Amino acid sequence: MWNKNLIFVISGPSGSGKTTLIKAILKDKELKKNLLRSVSFTTRAKRKGEIDGRDYFFISEEEFKEKLKRKKILEWTRFLDYYYGTSLDYFKALLKKKKPILLCLDEKGALKIKRIFGKKRVVTIFVIPPKLKELAERIALRHQGLDEEEINRRLFLAKEQIKNAYLYDYQLINDNFKKALKELKGIILKEIEAKYGLCSFRETFR
Ligand code: 5GP
Repeated sequence: MWNKNLIFVISGPSGSGKTTLIKAILKDKELKKNLLRSVSFTTRAKRKGEIDGRDYFFISEEEFKEKLKRKKILEWTRFLDYYYGTSLDYFKALLKKKKPILLCLDEKGALKIKRIFGKKRVVTIFVIPPKLKELAERIALRHQGLDEEEINRRLFLAKEQIKNAYLYDYQLINDNFKKALKELKGIILKEIEAKYGLCSFRETFR
């Protein structure tokens, strides 16, 4: 059942820019046909611009708990009062396609995926936001309408998360989007080439 796809897990605190980086990497000419994105379940509300089935599967808390009970969730977490989880069926379908898979998970999820699939198959990348002041501005801009207490809560969480960045295979500082994107692409291509070899990699990308 579990064949040998390479699995990339990207994490980073709110405001680190990881979602924008992931969107850009999935549109990349060389990578877009061959990097599969795992779509998670979430119980949080859909944000402006998000599409059900592309960004997340938006479900109710009841549905989430039901899926947990039926063991339909590979790994999960609770973040700021909402549940998030990797769909077991969706993930299994991706594995069958035998191509590299990309997940965007929190630290708990990243470590769990590493434990399940092993060090050789899972590459973890932590996106570090620039200075905290800038991070606070980004959070405030992204979640307009949040009061100061809520922004501080997210900032506190971000600081806690950054402390664990050393647990990841790569730490990517996102102080300049273009540079960070180039670095992320470099990491992904390097790991794919190391795993599949240059020749088979080129064939895959034809
Ligand atoms: P957001 O609400 O900003 O989209 O996501 C909040 C956090 O949940 C992010 O750190 C994101 O990476 C994480 N996350 C999203 N989906 C999953 C999932 O399926 N499992 C885990 N463990 N974390 C997830």
